[in-house]
Amino acid sequence: ENLNKTDIGLIGLAVMGENLALNMADKGWRVSVYNRTVPGIEEGVVERFINGHAQGKSIEGYTDIARFVESVAVPRKIMMMVRAGSAVDELMEQLFPLLSPGDILIDGGNSNYEDTNRRVALAEARGFRFVGAGVSGGEEGALNGASIMPGGSVSAWEEVKPVLQSIAAKASDGTPCCQWVGPAGSGHFVKMIHNGIEYGDMQLISEAYWVMKNLLKLDNGEMSSVFSQWNEGKLRSYLIEITANILQHKDKSGGYLIDKILDTAGQKGTGKWSVINAMELGMPLGLIATAVFERSLSAQKELRKSAAGHFTCRRTEVVYNKSEMVGDIYSALYASKLVSYAQGFAVLQRASDSFGWNLDLASIARMWRGGCIIRSIFLNDIAASFEGNEKPQHLLLTPYFSNEMKQLLSGWKHLVAQAMKEELPVPAFSSALNYFYSLVSANLPANMIQAQRDYFGAHTFERVDGLRGQFFHENWTGHG
Ligand code: NAP
Repeated sequence: ENLNKTDIGLIGLAVMGENLALNMADKGWRVSVYNRTVPGIEEGVVERFINGHAQGKSIEGYTDIARFVESVAVPRKIMMMVRAGSAVDELMEQLFPLLSPGDILIDGGNSNYEDTNRRVALAEARGFRFVGAGVSGGEEGALNGASIMPGGSVSAWEEVKPVLQSIAAKASDGTPCCQWVGPAGSGHFVKMIHNGIEYGDMQLISEAYWVMKNLLKLDNGEMSSVFSQWNEGKLRSYLIEITANILQHKDKSGGYLIDKILDTAGQKGTGKWSVINAMELGMPLGLIATAVFERSLSAQKELRKSAAGHFTCRRTEVVYNKSEMVGDIYSALYASKLVSYAQGFAVLQRASDSFGWNLDLASIARMWRGGCIIRSIFLNDIAASFEGNEKPQHLLLTPYFSNEMKQLLSGWKHLVAQAMKEELPVPAFSSALNYFYSLVSANLPANMIQAQRDYFGAHTFERVDGLRGQFFHENWTGHG
């Protein structure tokens, strides 16, 4: 019955879908593609693709969803690359009556993991299987190798694995950046945290740039060289590499383009979701929260312009030693990045425990080594730290990273202190440093918070000289 049928179907021919289809065809898969047709608005999308980029490739185009489904070999694998949200639900309702028992739907969009939880259950209740796969790498990754984070119906993995791993990026040791994440919406949860970490990395790199520019007065060419040098060491990563390129990019008019770009950052919401979910899980994710809030503050350009008229930040006349300060900025950037990843992975661990996902943190770190935006060599060290039989209590307490932190601390704190004196904002560097100091403090002032809560709200407290779990209430005012 599968004679002349294709290996996989793909729905949604926007940039991601088209490039994934081309990638699949290049790996030897026969692909059926479908895009909806909205008369007068979305017409000819399939025809344009089939007669354009897909020409001569093993790709069949369909404008009729029933014929599209019919063209794919059973049990079917159908990947959806459509706008996240209600479009996925609408498509599922259209597909269900056309599918055979055991068919597999793969959602490769940036869906909210709670939607994926719901969709996995819904598809399974109807006798189908559902995989929520986060895909990172943008257009380039979709075409040449992305980082793919699949989770959902467990029995689907063996069947979707050959296709998904073939189109995934390969890490330097050849492992595909696509492994099974876990049940339900875990794949999309992991993709969400990936995006949150991406927000953090970008904010940290921007702060490094800002200090070099404002305190060291380096020009764009010099800064580009610093980032290029860093890209040869432990900070080697895609984002550091493109930062070096951005800093030397000239505009048509001659000057550097970076100096002509308005300083207001946009956001689509995955950073915000990471923070909201960390809060729901009761976990600190301060670095990413800072990165999200700084984007929001950057967008308040008019307010910042008037505020700058009220308060002028004063810089000293100090001339800093370039190599020393660049070293301190490196320490601040590297240490803060470590804090950010430690916080992110701790959220993944908590989610795994709370939702019963049994996530393999080493495998997740390895999956992020290629294809995705946060790819970097330091993810090798993170994977190695999570690899042992004994789960580390915290990434920063593993032997390798605690030693790194000890080496970085002096330059890091010096840099943050200097920036504060110079009235220059480094919110993510300092948020990370404050987290680190709090983390390594056996005692925090939360005894005062607990006393206040008990004073005004009778919320009770535990005593240092009592048993844990034994709660006391004090009559603070002496009134009856
Ligand atoms: P997009 O603009 O997010 O989505 C457009 C696609 O969705 C079009 O094919 C569109 O069809 C289809 N669509 C929208 N509403 C639909 C509906 N109700 N029923 C059927 N199809 C519908 O395209 P994209 O940028 O390629 O992204 C696809 C998915 O991948 C998204 O979830 C996105 O968040 C995720 N993603 C994107 C990137 C990236 O770099 N762009 C990276 C990773 C993940 P029409 O042409 O008919 O409108």
